[in-house]
Amino acid sequence: MSKYFVVNGMCSTRKVPVGYQFKEGDDGVYYAVGSMYLSASSGGAAGSNDTRTGRFAPGSGFKCKACDNTCIHTCKNCGTLYCITSGATEVTCPNCGQVAHIRWVDSVDELEDHSNSTSKQ
Ligand SMILES: [Zn+2]
Ligand SMILES: [Zn+2]
Repeated sequence: MSKYFVVNGMCSTRKVPVGYQFKEGDDGVYYAVGSMYLSASSGGAAGSNDTRTGRFAPGSGFKCKACDNTCIHTCKNCGTLYCITSGATEVTCPNCGQVAHIRWVDSVDELEDHSNSTSKQ
């Protein structure tokens, strides 16, 4: 079962509100699968309290609606989710200006695997 949800974020290139659509993968990682413009009339674009903790990763084919960035990052200062350029090592939050240093990994193996095998031999 895959669950989709949208996080209110911001495009770091054009500094416009963008909703990033995620899908929860079987491994518990939230993969970005799409994005959309947030209309102010839909209400509550700013200050979403739907806070999710976990690992966010760009899914294959993901692209920011407002620019060509294919990766996303969550600001550790204000919590804003914003698009970043793939391979960028230093990014600036479009909301609060916090500079973040990105460390790229080849895989999500950083995730600790606590799956307990109950098989006995
Ligand atoms: Zn963007
Ligand atoms: Zn920020």
